[in-house]
Amino acid sequence: MQEKKARLELSEKEMKQFGYQIVDAIVEHHVTQDKKLPVAHATRKEMDSIFLEAAPEDGMPTKELLDFVLKKVMSNSTLMSHPKSYSFVPGPSNYVSVMADTLATGFNIFSGGWASSPAAAELEIVCIQWLLKIFGFPPKKGGGIFTSGGSMANLTAVATARNIKCGKDFSKSIIYLSDQAHSSNIKAIRVLGFTEAQVRIIPTDSEFNFALNKLKNCIAKDRLEGLHPFCLIASAGTTNTGTVDPLMDLAAICKKEDLWFHIDGAYGGAAILAPKGKQALKGIDKADSLTIDPHKWLYQPYEMGCLLVRNHKNLSHTFTEKPEYLRDIEGNTSEINFYDLGIQLTRRFRALKFYMSIKTFGLDAFRKAVTYNIDLAEQLEDYLRTSKKWEVVHSATLAIINFRYNPIAKNYNNKHLDSLNQQISKKVVDSQQALLVTTLLNKQVVLRMCLINPRTTFDDVKETIALCESFAEKID
Ligand SMILES: *Cc1c(COP(=O)(O)O)cnc(C)c1O
Repeated sequence: MQEKKARLELSEKEMKQFGYQIVDAIVEHHVTQDKKLPVAHATRKEMDSIFLEAAPEDGMPTKELLDFVLKKVMSNSTLMSHPKSYSFVPGPSNYVSVMADTLATGFNIFSGGWASSPAAAELEIVCIQWLLKIFGFPPKKGGGIFTSGGSMANLTAVATARNIKCGKDFSKSIIYLSDQAHSSNIKAIRVLGFTEAQVRIIPTDSEFNFALNKLKNCIAKDRLEGLHPFCLIASAGTTNTGTVDPLMDLAAICKKEDLWFHIDGAYGGAAILAPKGKQALKGIDKADSLTIDPHKWLYQPYEMGCLLVRNHKNLSHTFTEKPEYLRDIEGNTSEINFYDLGIQLTRRFRALKFYMSIKTFGLDAFRKAVTYNIDLAEQLEDYLRTSKKWEVVHSATLAIINFRYNPIAKNYNNKHLDSLNQQISKKVVDSQQALLVTTLLNKQVVLRMCLINPRTTFDDVKETIALCESFAEKID
């Protein structure tokens, strides 16, 4: 018989030891991470000096390797789940889903077709049903699929829109989105083979509101030129400011003009769980397709995105291919093969983490967490507005707030303020004590906090503001 090692196996005892060591390390991280420094810095040269080597012919003990990985890999990674990671979109995650992901990987469940794993397909159906209900989509007609993230969900959506609205010839087809739409939409459009001339970027005003009149003019002009408007991408929570496009108005335009209405809710969709969010997202249920991103504000570990569609047949019409070797496992149409609804054939079992975390904590815990996040950003806005040192540049919107250091007494010009705020961010990040970077709003450099971590306290936020002030006074 072949030796264990050549079968890529460990003994039962070794497996347990290795597994327990990893669980211990993960738990230790979860209970101590708030006290760690969130930010990691390293150059390529430093990383090469630690890791670069030829693939070793001979192996090494798992414990030794694990110690090395914990010490050198984990410590050289920024902690997106840290309460003081405020930038981009944080990934708060949750332990139950981490374990669920481990379980799904441990059993290496193929979540492509019904026949190979009925329960995995069923759990995806069930979780998608939960989400359809949360977002007010038709439960019977609606459908959806879990993807690796929001980018893949947007790609899946644009591919579907193109197939349904354009058929085979999309040479005259035009797609519309705002200048605040997420870059992944442009990537999706490019990947699908549209030229730049087929994309209309609609400007937003100084408060980042979608210019409805400009959109209408643009569509009318395109029609007059013999072009074929086919799709509009709206943002339900832009990543920059959290602003939600006027979904009701856009839905009406799409209906009238026969456009596919895609809503990118990768950032803000989850806000529907909070009363204020639900209000802000009015009209989200009018979408033909909706991207949400559970690995952001639904607290799932990476990778998990989701596309919901009003009519599930639109996904199967777009993605079903029947290769010979999948003939025998067709099954009954109610027994969904998720490989027929999206791009991937082999898929990891993403539904399990969503399912287990909702079953463990209950949806109400998620509602409370999202509500807390939205309130925290508003609390910070109140705090900054009563300070003589800070200017709120964009109000707290779906847990995002943009602000800049701008002491009233000093009367600095914009150029100086840009440089000052850039330097504050750099000092904070260099100190590793908080992940707080800038963005550009109306060409001004501003600090941006995205407060979707339910473990971030108001004290954490105030400490970070105080840290910024202490750096600012030194730069000044
Ligand atoms: C994050 C984000 C995306 C991309 O999602 P990934 O999960 O990073 O692929 C798309 N749109 C918006 C609005 C986002 O915030």
